[in-house]
Amino acid sequence: MYCRRYVLFLAWNDRRYRMGISANPQIDLSFLHHTEDYQRVAFISPPLPLAFSEYLLSLFSTAEERTGMPYRLNKSWFWKKERGFNSILNSRFKMVKNELANLGEEYLASEPVIFDYHSGLYIDHAAMHEYEDVLEQILQGRIQYLWEIDRRLREQGQQVDNLEDILHLLVLKGRVMKVPSVKYSPNQGMACNRCGHQYRVVKTFCPSGQKECYYCQECLLLGESKPCDALYAVPAKISAEDKMVSSVRLCLDISFSMAQYEAFEGLTRFVRKDSMDECLVWEACGAGRPETVFGAVREALKRGGKVLFGVPRKDVLDDLVIRIEKAFPGIPVAVRYGKPRPYSMVSRIVVASTHHALKFYRNFDLVILDESDAFPFRANPILINALRRARKVEGKFIYLTPTPEPDVYAKAQRGEIKVIQIPARQHGHPLPVPQLVVEKETGIPDRLISVIRETLEEDQAQILIVVPHEEASLRTCQWIENRLTDLGTLPFRSEGVLGTSAGDHNRDKKINAFIRGEASILVTTGLTVRGDLAPNSNLAVLGSEHEIFDEGYLLQLAGRVGWSTSYPNGKAWFFASQITREMEGVVRKIKLLNEEAHKKGFLDQTNKKCHRSLR
Ligand SMILES: [Zn+2]
Ligand SMILES: [Zn+2]
Repeated sequence: MYCRRYVLFLAWNDRRYRMGISANPQIDLSFLHHTEDYQRVAFISPPLPLAFSEYLLSLFSTAEERTGMPYRLNKSWFWKKERGFNSILNSRFKMVKNELANLGEEYLASEPVIFDYHSGLYIDHAAMHEYEDVLEQILQGRIQYLWEIDRRLREQGQQVDNLEDILHLLVLKGRVMKVPSVKYSPNQGMACNRCGHQYRVVKTFCPSGQKECYYCQECLLLGESKPCDALYAVPAKISAEDKMVSSVRLCLDISFSMAQYEAFEGLTRFVRKDSMDECLVWEACGAGRPETVFGAVREALKRGGKVLFGVPRKDVLDDLVIRIEKAFPGIPVAVRYGKPRPYSMVSRIVVASTHHALKFYRNFDLVILDESDAFPFRANPILINALRRARKVEGKFIYLTPTPEPDVYAKAQRGEIKVIQIPARQHGHPLPVPQLVVEKETGIPDRLISVIRETLEEDQAQILIVVPHEEASLRTCQWIENRLTDLGTLPFRSEGVLGTSAGDHNRDKKINAFIRGEASILVTTGLTVRGDLAPNSNLAVLGSEHEIFDEGYLLQLAGRVGWSTSYPNGKAWFFASQITREMEGVVRKIKLLNEEAHKKGFLDQTNKKCHRSLR
């Protein structure tokens, strides 16, 4: 596929003119002649990557000029209009030429090249029409490249030679939307329309274009996203059947905490009747569970709607599918994970990874980002952007997360989205508020030893020490062993002090030994932490000011402490050379959750569990 193919054009008749971009403006002229009797077309740019011709079009035309602008000189002779039109044509031609020079592009033509309808291409409209419905069907609710559409046609046993032209006609008819995969604007530079990233577009060389081009680094794993490629999209349609309310069976036979049950009810109401589009379910770590959202799912299904779950972790995804299938018997769940497969199954509940979520366009009535059990993974911005795009314009979005993204949290603060909190864990004890310890001296903080002694002697507990990198892990481990030997305090348990990091082959073994309680102290780099902490464990983060410890990460770490009923009042310390905004943010958020839990009476441990049995 050639890199530079799109030409900016002007088409006109004796009543009006319009501007557009096309890989073959003669096709546009044929269509425009057929529908509105346009007579001529002029090319006013050289072939360019789609993104640049789109930019030029937006720069040099008004919305009216892109759909057909009547001449202002109503009652004059045609030659006058023609002369008037020539001045429009020549001025646009010059403007484009100047702008191209600014962009460092060469445009050799000294005047526009003009084609008359009668000397140009003719489209066989009847033949093209044949494919329109099948194409719209394939595109519905999706955003795809030409080659993906072609592949899906082949899967259905169809081969269309001039697929791109037919798609272009559908764009002209307003039935399909077309955008460059990477868009360009002079103020913001390049931004990727596939993954939504702005600052990851870099230069490359398009072999067929013989000139420099660009691609997005962020989503490179999915194949290059480039300014010369087009993405085609069509929102999902609402059929008459979709509007009917039917009954959907929900089988839940589980114990909710009071907080979870309130969230369950709140979310059901949110889908049934709420003016807001988005809802943040802000859970204390380990306080949420996927079932809290199932009432909302049923509500969407009852109205004939479709539901999409986005999950950032494969193992959690499998577990989620099992829970959904159990709760909604008879409703097939489509799992979209790993390599692309033919989309054969039609399902009203889809569970998708990032890769697949990116293919949806305005398709779902309810979209849920489930991050509750994703630790230490969090949804990357690509997944979040993909899910936002997969939601129908009038659809709803639910974020289930212990660590709201800054932009979502800010929206919640401003009251722009609905917020439901699950502030207390099932055992009804408050979250530990981390103690911030500032140590001006460089190196391992001396206070760490008193923290260790407090943990081992007073609390009779274990301690997880999280450090920012591998080297710190080794050093800290050695230092602790030496200091404890000097002090004559040997760690009680058989394995003593364990140290591990991302590159350690025995990492899992050591973490498991710690979780089983065989070691008193585990020093680890952040990335090796997974799942729950040991049940009886305190936590210390060293070098909390380090950039890898962003607010969400620190919040996740602190929130894991005290998850077990055997040691619900675990402690957390953040050591740092200075207190960062992130550390303060964590303390503030944990206090907020605790206050909320207290206000609502969720911290009363005598509170009865709320057993839900819905059939
Ligand atoms: Zn290119
Ligand atoms: Zn991208």
